[in-house]
Amino acid sequence: FENEIAQYCETDYALGLANGSDALFLALKAMDIGYGDEVITCPNSFIASAWVIEAAKAKTVFVDCDDDFNIDVNKLEEAITEKTRAIIPIHLTGRPARMDQINALARKHNLFVLEDSAQAIGARYKGKRVGGLGDAAGYSLHPLKNLGIIGDGGFFTTNDKFLYEKVKKLRNHGLKNRDECEMWGFNSRLDSLQARLASIKLKHLNSWNTRFREIASTYRKGLNAIVITPQDSADEESVYHNFVIRVNKEIRDDLMQYLLTRGVETKVHYPIPIHLQECASNLKYKKGDFPNAENFALEMISLPIYPELNESELNHVIGSI
Ligand SMILES: *Cc1c(COP(=O)(O)O)cnc(C)c1O
Repeated sequence: FENEIAQYCETDYALGLANGSDALFLALKAMDIGYGDEVITCPNSFIASAWVIEAAKAKTVFVDCDDDFNIDVNKLEEAITEKTRAIIPIHLTGRPARMDQINALARKHNLFVLEDSAQAIGARYKGKRVGGLGDAAGYSLHPLKNLGIIGDGGFFTTNDKFLYEKVKKLRNHGLKNRDECEMWGFNSRLDSLQARLASIKLKHLNSWNTRFREIASTYRKGLNAIVITPQDSADEESVYHNFVIRVNKEIRDDLMQYLLTRGVETKVHYPIPIHLQECASNLKYKKGDFPNAENFALEMISLPIYPELNESELNHVIGSI
């Protein structure tokens, strides 16, 4: 599986791990990021994008998201300080972040770039798969992700031999062989049975991702005139882990309720930006700090999207909206 997935992600190395969060966390450990360091990410994400930084004992610094729900590259540089060691761009909803600008800033300030690719397996940016666009990347194989197994799993990709070898030891107690331990480590191995399953499902991933993109395009055609839909730019090929529309916040909750009465379950990814979560009180952010993330949290609706969704179901969702 590791060989197959490295090839799929167009990277030199891949390592199976216990889950996607560990992939990000162990990458930070391999980069020797910890106390006194700052790591930049976006508050419009799943909580794991930030807790991995806290778990590494570094400080989380947020930068607001842009209209594409990804980190706003125009606000990135002002968040960089002498303590900044890494940027974690999140390819949220399966849509690649603006990696050229992120990498250029990282190079200028000597920072690591760690892609949170949990939602974006197979997505492309300027023709290249995500996962090999920065120094390292973390992916999740959670059942809800585009490549999901039966339980938890994840993997790490990189083109950097040093990071690869270090994460390989960190996931296995820090051991360099059966009896000798080089560094304090963790136990974060991907179960062999799950790896086998991932390998079987990987053969179907491209056709599933194609279907995600077809569904997105059907939604766009049907809904462009009445709500804000995500648009692919020429640079990117999103895999639409979520299809997130935006509507007026005065009607958002009523629309979701109404859709439910029509048998259409929707969710919000994510209703509480991370900087306003209870756990984040140590970071001392407040309401108003990240206006896009906060406003979008009140306007977003994730529509049903999965490969098995058929045309009449899609038309029912569109007609209901
Ligand atoms: C799912 C997800 C993760 C964490 O993956 P797990 O396998 O659940 O640990 C991290 N970041 C994002 C953006 C995710 O969606």
